[in-house]
Amino acid sequence: MEFGWSNEECGRYDKLVAAVRDAFPSGVVREGGPFTPEDWQRLGKMGLLGLSVPDRYGGGGLGALESARSVEAFGRACPYTGLVFAASAHLFACAMPITDWGGEELKRRFLPAMCDGELVAGNAMTEAQAGSDVSRLAVTATQVPGGWMLDGEKSFVSNGPNAGLYVTYATTDPDAGHWGKTAFVVPRDTPGVTAGEPFEKMGLLQCPAGSVRFENCFVPAENVIGVPGQGGPIFQDSMGWERACLFAGYVGLADRLLDQCVAHVRERRQFDRPLASFESVSDRVADMKLRLESARLLLYRACWEKDQGLSRSALSTALSKLAVSEGALANAVDAVRLFGGRGYLRADGIEAALRDSVPSVIFSGTSDIQRRIVARELGL
Ligand SMILES: Cc1cc2nc3c(=O)[nH]c(=O)nc-3n(C[C@H](O)[C@H](O)[C@H](O)COP(=O)(O)OP(=O)(O)OC[C@H]3O[C@@H](n4cnc5c(N)ncnc54)[C@H](O)[C@@H]3O)c2cc1C
Repeated sequence: MEFGWSNEECGRYDKLVAAVRDAFPSGVVREGGPFTPEDWQRLGKMGLLGLSVPDRYGGGGLGALESARSVEAFGRACPYTGLVFAASAHLFACAMPITDWGGEELKRRFLPAMCDGELVAGNAMTEAQAGSDVSRLAVTATQVPGGWMLDGEKSFVSNGPNAGLYVTYATTDPDAGHWGKTAFVVPRDTPGVTAGEPFEKMGLLQCPAGSVRFENCFVPAENVIGVPGQGGPIFQDSMGWERACLFAGYVGLADRLLDQCVAHVRERRQFDRPLASFESVSDRVADMKLRLESARLLLYRACWEKDQGLSRSALSTALSKLAVSEGALANAVDAVRLFGGRGYLRADGIEAALRDSVPSVIFSGTSDIQRRIVARELGL
């Protein structure tokens, strides 16, 4: 068993950390606004929008583990976790289903623009009545000559208000259960598509989210991802990518937060002593480190298993998603405690880390759903 990274991998990580710090410096106040087209193009140039897409379609051609390590570098260096999330959702929930399941024509048509920063994509699965349980989708697609007619509304589409295309899922056969849904690529300018206003939300402020409505929206047959009826497995597969690789951004965030906490408790003095000299303070930092390192190892293993195509990877990705998200949230709360009143103020980015960590226990399947998967994989 080998726990070290090669020199080449270490070099790629360091280079990316430096490039991201340079492109998105800390202290640039962004008034909580969404990313701009210039931000997106910068990400495209750095290769962050196509890490795991094969190079013949403009991507980086990396496996899951190497992609995750790059997302980790991005999360560590970028003070705007919403931007890390926006790019990762675009890549893992939109570009990867097209890469893994789409036909050659679909890949050539959309992937290069998605990788180079020209096109923003949003994954549109959730509906008002279909959150954790996506088995019955109210959005329907009815077969018509040459394609499908989509009707209904999706909710909580990350990147939705800014997106140029949606990867969406609709019921095509209500009696076929898991095999009754179909995945589609729908460009934003298709007649019958309306993107809603950005939601007002707690965190991940650089990533706008909103609803997307389809009304008598004709989508040609060639925009089906995979084959009709394959939407359920395609979506589950995309969640596998998210749970394994997107959460590496939170490992990077936890690294950054821990560095800030260590520096703060060494420097800040109370009762004539550095905070670090109080055992309850240093114990809290030790617990943060434990959560971070155990989550990191689970994430690396989940990604490695994904690269090996191992069948037990559903268990590993659920364990990894649980450990990273719950660890990120617990560490962010601890960071606020360690910084005291200063942690509650905006300046150091500590309260932003908390607001950005809360949704990680909800999206890509809530913590309860991950526990259901773990229990199921254990035969319970
Ligand atoms: C920041 C953010 C970004 C998002 N981005 C996207 C996106 O890009 N695309 C998209 O399609 N969706 C997106 N979502 C939506 C997300 O996928 C859903 O919010 C999530 O799946 C949970 O669904 P829900 O909100 O309807 O909660 P519900 O399903 O109503 O769950 C509410 C509570 O009940 C619990 N619960 C539900 N079922 C069970 C069960 N079987 N066992 C135990 N507990 C259960 C849940 O764990 C949760 O605590 C995003 C959400 C957030 C917060």
